[in-house]
Amino acid sequence: MNSRYDVVILGAGHNGLVAASYLGRAGLSVLLLEKNDYIGGATTSQKVFPDYEARLSRYSYLVSLFPEKIIRDLGLKLELRQRATGSFTPYIKSGQHDGLLISNVDEGQSRRSIIDLTGSETEFEQMKKFYALSRVFAEHAWDTMLELLVAKEEMKRRFDVDDVSREAWRSLAEEPLGRALERYLQDDLVRGLVLTDAKVGIFTHPHDPSLVQNRCFLYHLIGNKTGEWKVPVGGMGAVARELERTARSAGAELLTNVNLVALDLKGKKKTVEFQIDGKQQTVETRFLLANFGRNVLAKYSGKTYEPGTVDEGSVFKINMLLRRLPKLKAKKYSMAEAWCGTFHSDEGYEQMNASYEQAAKGRLPDKTPCEVYCHTLTDESILSPELRERGFHTITLFGLDAPYSLFAKNNEIVRKQAEKKFLESMNQWLEEPLEDCLAVARDGSPCIESKSPVDIENSLGMYHGNIFQDAPTWPFATKKEQVGTWGVETEWENVFLCGSSALRGGAVSGIPGHNAARKVLEIIKKTPNCPSRTGTKRPTSNVELSKSR
Ligand SMILES: Cc1cc2nc3c(=O)[nH]c(=O)nc-3n(C[C@H](O)[C@H](O)[C@H](O)COP(=O)(O)OP(=O)(O)OC[C@H]3O[C@@H](n4cnc5c(N)ncnc54)[C@H](O)[C@@H]3O)c2cc1C
Repeated sequence: MNSRYDVVILGAGHNGLVAASYLGRAGLSVLLLEKNDYIGGATTSQKVFPDYEARLSRYSYLVSLFPEKIIRDLGLKLELRQRATGSFTPYIKSGQHDGLLISNVDEGQSRRSIIDLTGSETEFEQMKKFYALSRVFAEHAWDTMLELLVAKEEMKRRFDVDDVSREAWRSLAEEPLGRALERYLQDDLVRGLVLTDAKVGIFTHPHDPSLVQNRCFLYHLIGNKTGEWKVPVGGMGAVARELERTARSAGAELLTNVNLVALDLKGKKKTVEFQIDGKQQTVETRFLLANFGRNVLAKYSGKTYEPGTVDEGSVFKINMLLRRLPKLKAKKYSMAEAWCGTFHSDEGYEQMNASYEQAAKGRLPDKTPCEVYCHTLTDESILSPELRERGFHTITLFGLDAPYSLFAKNNEIVRKQAEKKFLESMNQWLEEPLEDCLAVARDGSPCIESKSPVDIENSLGMYHGNIFQDAPTWPFATKKEQVGTWGVETEWENVFLCGSSALRGGAVSGIPGHNAARKVLEIIKKTPNCPSRTGTKRPTSNVELSKSR
């Protein structure tokens, strides 16, 4: 380790690694400091149950928003695999168990499934029209995510080209999502299915005047212009490993188990004080990039963090290793078809309005909405050959309407209660309870772990367990001073956000990491006699940041 670097990055989440890769390739000396004992932050696979060779995506698990441009620029070897089923939503009709299946590969099957549910194909056509709005939005907005922020008015002008674009702008950027959703769709289950993308990770409802639900919805629908969520082969850890490889081969130095002590952000040279292996260290840097959220940066800069009203996280994550997949009560679809997509439970539109209201009043909802994923049906490589042969699977449950405030006072007890409720929600659709299918560790404990927003904040620093570090933002500038910026700027010169807290951050996207790197390189280009490489001597790479489209 040197005493001076061009760039120090605080946190080694995937965005910090993206920034490090770009900046290292541009010839800058880069040091990453991570508090945890592993690299990747929320983008990680771990052997959660030590007795079994199964590497679970402990936090994030699906990828949609990682731009192909970053993959190309950095030469990342990633395989993102399509799931045959988009979603499966079990329901009971006339006393019979059935299910709504939206296929990723067979539109006819989705159509038939909606007709079975609603009795006509109108809802299917309406759903297509509704999703056409987000496709149009993606066409206009996606490529700008790796460019300087444009003003809201300018973005609106770009939509002023035809009726569908104007409708997309109005429905998704101006009025609460609930309005369009209720205008287009009539069936409660279909409405609920669509609404879930507006609620993942945040505490909101369809008519929230803050429009945070719209922003969350857009994040789920515009990725690479298709909005399709794919399984990273090898789990999320494969994404982090690949980025770690590119960062290291670009010359970046990575330190884990770092205890950050103090930051001095004021002068031209920033200083970072930290402890590692029991020793106190100080490094000087020209650029400081914060991969952790604004809340953590505030703590170290002596500022009071002032969260927005919609920054609270709302998530309940359960990771499970199963000896076998439980059979479903609904028999229309094969087990593999039903389980390999996003399995929705208790996510009817009115059900979620009720669960939101109950959680807002400070109690766990009667019916806890959740979605469940069995990634091993799409990518079995996360299990050892022996576990595959024995029929093991991993299951991950993502619970909604589980805000931080419910857990803040008594995390241990409420976590247990919530786990029970979410499992009950799933069990209503299964022939045998999930609990009976869990693998068992040598000490007799079942292979299940639950993480509340409090746990997520404790492990990763994400503000109140917000999976995007704080509320997702619009893909355009909403304030005058943001126009023409990268959305990574802070009040301190040469101190930038390179993680999810940046504008257009959030999710596994690498976008803020890319944008922070662009900002640094832009400054260097404008400064005479730069880059002044202060760190280890390495040959300057010829790789420049290629221009955004
Ligand atoms: C349960 C869960 C499920 C999710 N599911 C998905 C999904 O399926 N798909 C998707 O796209 N997104 C998902 N997300 C969101 C996504 O994972 C995050 O938005 C993204 O990974 C954040 O990446 P990042 O690099 O910006 O920050 P982080 O991953 O938060 O990295 C920040 C790093 O800073 C470190 N740090 C914090 N404090 C300090 C300190 N004091 N000193 C040094 N280091 C520190 C942290 O340990 C961490 O390594 C999920 C998130 C969670 C929590």
